[in-house]
Amino acid sequence: MKPETLAVHAARAPEPASGAVAPSIQLSTTFERAADGSYPHGYYYGRTDNPTRHALEQAIAALEGGAAAACFASGTAASMAAFSLLERGDHVVAPSECYHGTSKQLKELVTRMGVSVSFVETGDLRAIEAAWTPATRMLWIETPSNPRLFITDIAAAARLTRSRGGLLACDSTFATPVLQQPLALGADMVMHSSTKFLAGHSDVIGGALVVRESGPVLERLRDYQVQGGAVPSPFDCWLTRRSMMTLPYRVRAQSSNALAVARFLERQARVQQVFYPGLPSHPGHELAARQMSAFGSMISITIDGDAEAALAVAARVRLFTRATSLGSVESLIEHRASMEGPGTPTPANLLRLSIGLEHPDDLIEDLAQAMR
Ligand code: PLP
Repeated sequence: MKPETLAVHAARAPEPASGAVAPSIQLSTTFERAADGSYPHGYYYGRTDNPTRHALEQAIAALEGGAAAACFASGTAASMAAFSLLERGDHVVAPSECYHGTSKQLKELVTRMGVSVSFVETGDLRAIEAAWTPATRMLWIETPSNPRLFITDIAAAARLTRSRGGLLACDSTFATPVLQQPLALGADMVMHSSTKFLAGHSDVIGGALVVRESGPVLERLRDYQVQGGAVPSPFDCWLTRRSMMTLPYRVRAQSSNALAVARFLERQARVQQVFYPGLPSHPGHELAARQMSAFGSMISITIDGDAEAALAVAARVRLFTRATSLGSVESLIEHRASMEGPGTPTPANLLRLSIGLEHPDDLIEDLAQAMR
């Protein structure tokens, strides 16, 4: 089935008891046992499983073409669940540019578990090979990366990881299952901050991990989900599943808007560089064209000048909202380095744009007046 159809129908059908077309939100924290002590409906406690969460997990797994998904209270909880697969003495290779919270998690929480981390440019396979050690158990990639949209070759990374007996996990938040299918390209696990495109309306924090196969990795992740306890609320699961019905159309329209905005930005004298994989000037353009069906709605630009110059452009927008996060229906602009804090590799004059569903002409007009 095509993504548009899966987005509407996966794990979603009229409810047998009432005929309700829209699913109800199951708030119950506990489920009745039968007289013989069994759980005839398969559910026993809301942290362990819940029908609303279960439906969301099935829908995300269907869209990613995976065996199963586990949902979490945030993208950050989902990445931490993936890292929980590592044990003292293990080593992980991760990108030198990725979501700053993931880098921080690796540098602080994961190293505290006795796991060592090497940060390399994962766009360069030789760098991954050079960093690999006999203790390496996982390659973590994020493609396109936050914030400069660097592209990693998922199929090549998967071949390398498999030949060395490791696990390949891909943060595919920027791409969504609509534009990129890491599991089909050989990844073992996909991670999403569902806060972004999956929920898509700036009103839910959530995360998901999807695995290609059932088996010990899935069991470990489910254990961590239940024992770690960072599970999403039924209402958040319901909102996310509801929004996913329009995901393919939102993502494609937002990508098309972003391409128009990126082409405009490339012609602006005040813009030093545009980072958008849909532009031939982007170093990852050809690879992105091969492994993605469109280029997404995230753009970063560097402004001619320093941090003050970039902040001054962000200060003048009227339609864009100055705020962190991404992937929602409204366009956002953010001075990324001041959000990430001291020591960030993000250039001080970089602005990150999340392009929404407004008309691209209006977005372009807003940016034009902000740069005048
Ligand atoms: N991964 C990426 C690529 C992100 O952009 C973010 C958040 O911005 C996360 C993970 C973390 O997700 P959350 O904020 O839902 O914890």
